Amino acid sequence: MAEKTKRRCSFCGRSESETGVLIGGINGYICCSCAEQAHGIFREEGLVEKSDFELKELPKPQEIKAFLDNYVIGQDEAKKVLSVSVYNHYKRLMQADSGDEVEIEKSNIIMVGSTGTGKTLLARTIARLLKVPFTIVDATVLTEAGYVGEDIESLLTRLLQVCDYKVEEAERGIVFIDEIDKIARKGDNPSITRDVSGEGVQQGLLKLLEGSVVNVPPQGGRKHPEQKMIPVNTRNILFICGGAFDGIERKIAQRMNTHVVGYNSVLNTQDIDKENIMKYILPQDLRSFGLIPEIIGRLPVLTHLKPLDRTALRNILTEPKNSIIKQYMKLMEMDGVKLTFDDDVLEYIVDTALEYKLGARGLRSIVESIMVDKMFEIPSDGTTECRITKEYAMQQLSKNALTTLASEQ
Ligand code: ADP
Repeated sequence: MAEKTKRRCSFCGRSESETGVLIGGINGYICCSCAEQAHGIFREEGLVEKSDFELKELPKPQEIKAFLDNYVIGQDEAKKVLSVSVYNHYKRLMQADSGDEVEIEKSNIIMVGSTGTGKTLLARTIARLLKVPFTIVDATVLTEAGYVGEDIESLLTRLLQVCDYKVEEAERGIVFIDEIDKIARKGDNPSITRDVSGEGVQQGLLKLLEGSVVNVPPQGGRKHPEQKMIPVNTRNILFICGGAFDGIERKIAQRMNTHVVGYNSVLNTQDIDKENIMKYILPQDLRSFGLIPEIIGRLPVLTHLKPLDRTALRNILTEPKNSIIKQYMKLMEMDGVKLTFDDDVLEYIVDTALEYKLGARGLRSIVESIMVDKMFEIPSDGTTECRITKEYAMQQLSKNALTTLASEQ
């Protein structure tokens, strides 16, 4: 111990008992924070290798949208809103050191839309374009401190992991919080049973969304007193939240009806697009659903995703750069086999997805069931061409898939 107090960082002068580990050189020592500062200086001077997540040139909103178009079908409204907010967010980051008085505020995003309409896909695709650390976390695992579940801070653990615990990189990453609707307040009277995974979690989440320094458990889960925490500043982390908000249409419709009648609004009930009521969503609907106003205030960008219709599903099969069909063709090509699908097979796949209400997520399992036997046989039998007909597809599906598909609903 006596030995320990004698050693001091030769740069900041703090003792080893204050700084933790000291790295020794020939004539002195350096502590962790001085080493980090030195690293920062070297990087600014371009003397250190750049990381995978360096923000280079920021693409313009129209370029971001064009990139999204390559992977996500439809959802133009959401794409536009996302492109603009992500662009502004990163402009804000780049402006950080300009010393300007006009401080641009962070605008976290909330996307509302049924499951399987592309919320995660949109967030993931944007992160890929911007080359920033990105992670998807699920709000359902979170509970208030002291209850079974994970601490709210553990949302950031995954983000730290994807950038090898480089805090500086994580601090300008994107976190996609899925199923945000599941932490809605359970009822109007929270005193009946304690709402440990609802309002309490929302309160905890506030801290993260608004930007503050939080202590993140490096391995996730619950914080332990003996575990060393990593402080992360969330000021520049962009949070994108997504949720299906099942039943919110009813709340929107209710609000619109009362408005039309009660306030003699210019909106005529006849003009309302009843097929897509979601497009009229407003922050107050999220509030009626059970999000607390403070959370809504921290998610100023609200956008919605449309349900996928027949045409959209058909396009999803073949149009995106990495569409399911293209992926199978590529897999076969690697075995030297040319794979083709008859047009009516594709129609049949879409019909089945619609019939079983499987949405876009079901397309993959349907194709998988159709292809499994071929994928098993072809690599060994020397075939060079494989054509999938509707008859074959129907036979395969009735053989092994329909029961599983039905149970996926
Ligand atoms: P959500 O997050 O809305 O529940 P996902 O983004 O996870 O849905 O979508 C599930 C899968 O369905 C995606 O991986 C993708 O293959 C497909 N998908 C969904 N929506 C679209 C879309 N608009 N364009 C292309 N593929 C889509």
